[in-house]
Amino acid sequence: LVELTHVEKHYGALHVLKDINLRVNKGEVLVVVGPSGSGKSTMCRTINRLETIDSGDIRIDGKTLPQEGKELAALRAEVGMVFQSFNLFANKTILENVTLAPMKVRHVDQKTAERQAMDLLSRVGVDTQANKMPSQLSGGQQQRVAIARALAMQPKVMLFDEPTSALDPEMVNEVLDVMVELAKEGMTMICVTHEMGFARKAADRIVFMADGRILEQSTPDEFFENPKTERAKDFLSKIL
Ligand code: ATP
Ligand code: MG
Repeated sequence: LVELTHVEKHYGALHVLKDINLRVNKGEVLVVVGPSGSGKSTMCRTINRLETIDSGDIRIDGKTLPQEGKELAALRAEVGMVFQSFNLFANKTILENVTLAPMKVRHVDQKTAERQAMDLLSRVGVDTQANKMPSQLSGGQQQRVAIARALAMQPKVMLFDEPTSALDPEMVNEVLDVMVELAKEGMTMICVTHEMGFARKAADRIVFMADGRILEQSTPDEFFENPKTERAKDFLSKIL
């Protein structure tokens, strides 16, 4: 469903992505881990062209990501993304935050969009907050709205870049629980996270990055019990 082949990227002299090869099948949950600065966020951002690449190929559902234009917008709509900061529209209600893109991009009528939004908001447990403004919600609630907003576009794949790292500890699990549910329902997911409990519970595959390279791809059991590289052993010894 998502396929990166020989992807290379530089920021000036900095070689951030080095020969990235990655395949994510439909329904698969990938957890991407690795030290700070290893290129995890950059890789995620290339998948919906928030970042361009220097060379290589990124395909979504068999189609190469174009550089710009209508086709890019269409392919981007297939990729939902949730960031560390919640990025909700501050001057719109929770309900409007979720209905905006489906109405604008997918041309769903308002009634339908609102009905679908309420379903999603209740799935993530914040339907009672629908008429509030984002600033009136807790961080955990805002992040769950951000997930609902991404899901409203009916994406084929969801990208999560450290969705819980800006949250107070007591709110981390309410967001992870939503992600575990999504995974169980068969959503294709790529998650950058330091939450190793989540990785063990939800991941089909762990991708370990260091210095812009993918060094290991293995099951959670293999990765945590028996990491193959010294870099991964070192990384795990610091976080576990
Ligand atoms: P973290 O765990 O801290 O989030 P990461 O693995 O997500 O790290 P990236 O954010 O992808 O790492 O950054 C990879 C490298 O690219 C870092 O050295 C970073 O400083 C650099 N970098 C990231 N974005 C830019 C940018 N817009 N311009 C220049 N350099 C950048
Ligand atoms: Mg990052």
